[in-house]
Amino acid sequence: MAINASTGEVFSGYGRPSQFEHKVTYGVKSIPEAAREVNVLREVDVCVVGGGPGGIAAAVSAARGGAKTLLIERYGHLGGMSTGGLVNIIPNLGDTYGRQAIGGFCQELIDRLAARNGATYPEKKYWGSTDKDEVQKYVDANMMHFYIRRNRDGERVTLYTAVIDPEIAKDEMNTMVLESGAELLLHCWVTEPIMEGNQVKGVMVETKAGRQAVLAKIVIDCTGDGDLLPKVPEETVDYMPEGSRIAQFGWIYWIANVDIDAYFAFKREKPEEMKAVIKTIMEAGGSPHFSPGLLKNQHGVVWVHRLIGSLHQTEPEEMTYIDVSARKRAVRNWELLKQYMPGFEKSFIMLSNPQLGTSGGRRLVGEYWLTEADMDSDTPFPDTIAIFADNDRGVKSLDHPRTYVPYRALVPKGTEGFLVACRAFSADHDFSEYFNLIPHCMCFGQAAGHAAAIALQDGVSVRDIDFSKLRAQLLKYGAILPEA
Ligand SMILES: Cc1cc2nc3c(=O)[nH]c(=O)nc-3n(C[C@H](O)[C@H](O)[C@H](O)COP(=O)(O)OP(=O)(O)OC[C@H]3O[C@@H](n4cnc5c(N)ncnc54)[C@H](O)[C@@H]3O)c2cc1C
Repeated sequence: MAINASTGEVFSGYGRPSQFEHKVTYGVKSIPEAAREVNVLREVDVCVVGGGPGGIAAAVSAARGGAKTLLIERYGHLGGMSTGGLVNIIPNLGDTYGRQAIGGFCQELIDRLAARNGATYPEKKYWGSTDKDEVQKYVDANMMHFYIRRNRDGERVTLYTAVIDPEIAKDEMNTMVLESGAELLLHCWVTEPIMEGNQVKGVMVETKAGRQAVLAKIVIDCTGDGDLLPKVPEETVDYMPEGSRIAQFGWIYWIANVDIDAYFAFKREKPEEMKAVIKTIMEAGGSPHFSPGLLKNQHGVVWVHRLIGSLHQTEPEEMTYIDVSARKRAVRNWELLKQYMPGFEKSFIMLSNPQLGTSGGRRLVGEYWLTEADMDSDTPFPDTIAIFADNDRGVKSLDHPRTYVPYRALVPKGTEGFLVACRAFSADHDFSEYFNLIPHCMCFGQAAGHAAAIALQDGVSVRDIDFSKLRAQLLKYGAILPEA
């Protein structure tokens, strides 16, 4: 692999900078792996793999349900993309009509963060409101995609969306997990499920202390990428259409010490000169697009989100290629902003995403397979675990503002002792395109955690739980569900 030092373009060895030209080479040759005895690190009721939005909700909920629960995370912090990916915007908590759709664990986390000045969102009176000043706030913040939609009269309305402070969130998520009684193991990579026939019995982990085993009665895959799925290939898909939202990596960084007032004054008072600055930056290969951060006490911090198309989001060669080239481009872009954009003269890059942003990977083919037809349906399922606000499909969203998700979308068809509660839930690419975001994964996690605890208490398979008990637990912990 070679990097052009002046442009940041990465040549993969095939001579072209496009990631779609980059060929993944591993798998050409194989060798046998010797069988060996491994140490059993823990024996638990429920093992949750991955401490992202789905995983923290699953671990807390399983522990609250009385299960001896272990949460395993590969990095040194919780939150997954919502913290380490610097994707700290929690959108679609309510619909264009102002009705809250998602409560439960997600709302509990937001409330706890808000109490620590670590979350901010529009006041309730503005949800679904056409108030022009409120709308303008999000237009100025370049956050229309997350906060603003049009109602049936074509007017702009504000949505219920929250932003969270990733550092306070990491601390609060640790607290929530430990307070629930779940045990936490960081710095452990889970590599595969331990299977006996079609029954999952635990997972293998790679750690600094070597390869070890964790035995569990139920395993919940919250890796985001469905890392435990390849062992059950008939229950797995990874199709994503090129150019779709889920076929993208994200590389995000924050620039601090920006004189944002000077920037806005220049933009307002000298529009022609601003156009010239933008042209200069773009002609030099940069991008002038950023969002002035919405977090309190972060005046002068801007967020830059760069999206990079990829159909191989679990391939280390592709991930390396994207990380190296995106970093090179980010630094070059900041240099151009610093040189040409008023307000950026004393700025610096304060942080780039500690974890590469993946939005699609493997997905479960479960007992229920969600498709576009489910977005167009207005009928709840008998086992509905969550209501999602459908805000991203234009007129269709106005016609069908609520989408329902059944518990069966977390349950594999044949594998036992196993649930999936992350963006790898059972859905086709169309459904995933809209509904695999942070709040959605928290809903999956909350349902899976409670379901696992109920299954263990009643001595039944996760696929045979008494749904009325799961519904009661979800309601007890604040979930918003359709009328029974
Ligand atoms: C560029 C980009 C922008 C996005 N913007 C938004 C946004 O603004 N708002 C929004 O709501 N969503 C956004 N998303 C989507 C959202 O971030 C994810 O869909 C969501 O985080 C999924 O949650 P999750 O729990 O399934 O997975 P993740 O957040 O990926 O968490 C998975 C966790 O599991 C851990 N893990 C993974 N594999 C293993 C393993 N083998 N062993 C141990 N631990 C493991 C990871 O380290 C991580 O902590 C964005 C995604 C991208 C790529």
